[in-house]
Amino acid sequence: MTVSNNMHDDIEEVLITEDVLQARVTSLAAAIAEDYRGKDLLLVGILRGAIMFMVDLAKRLPLPLDIDFMAISSYGDATESSGVVRILKDLDEDIGGKDVLIVEDIIDTGLTLRYLMEYLARRNPASLTVCALLDKHKDRDKVVEPAYLGFRIPDRFVVGYGLDYAQKYRNLPYIGVLKPSVYGQGE
Ligand code: 5GP
Repeated sequence: MTVSNNMHDDIEEVLITEDVLQARVTSLAAAIAEDYRGKDLLLVGILRGAIMFMVDLAKRLPLPLDIDFMAISSYGDATESSGVVRILKDLDEDIGGKDVLIVEDIIDTGLTLRYLMEYLARRNPASLTVCALLDKHKDRDKVVEPAYLGFRIPDRFVVGYGLDYAQKYRNLPYIGVLKPSVYGQGE
């Protein structure tokens, strides 16, 4: 894999611009602020992909809230879902009685989310809900739907705004698709 010195040169197409992303995060935060007023909100960010979204969302919420993180295994360097979910870092806080909002970067097969929901539900939170930035909206049988969703996107591998390819491109401020040459194809 070859990463250009200027990462923007590796992007074939910008799917969601920075302005559109930020505006959507603002409106999601407004909806969440309305729904969680007077509740004991705990934001659970899923590392590492959800970091940018989590930070931007939290900054726009005027509510008192707690923040915690989980790290789970994802694709490695490949672009296909393995369906295998492994907890690399668990929560630091007890979630019993809390209104837990899982902040996730992207839903592909939905397997990660389904696993997380089942895993956290066993710890008796007052409520357990999902806020996802992106959804590829594949045909999924009975997988959890997020209560809050940023965007539906086509079934393409995307990077930026927290999402990586081989751990790079997370710091792009927009959501984009890589040129095939980055994967060592089309040259
Ligand atoms: P799922 O379990 O829903 O198939 O996969 C969810 C996880 O796979 C996401 O949290 C993310 O880490 C990874 N993922 C799924 N689609 C993409 C994608 O298009 N780009 C990147 N960078 N990661 C993805």
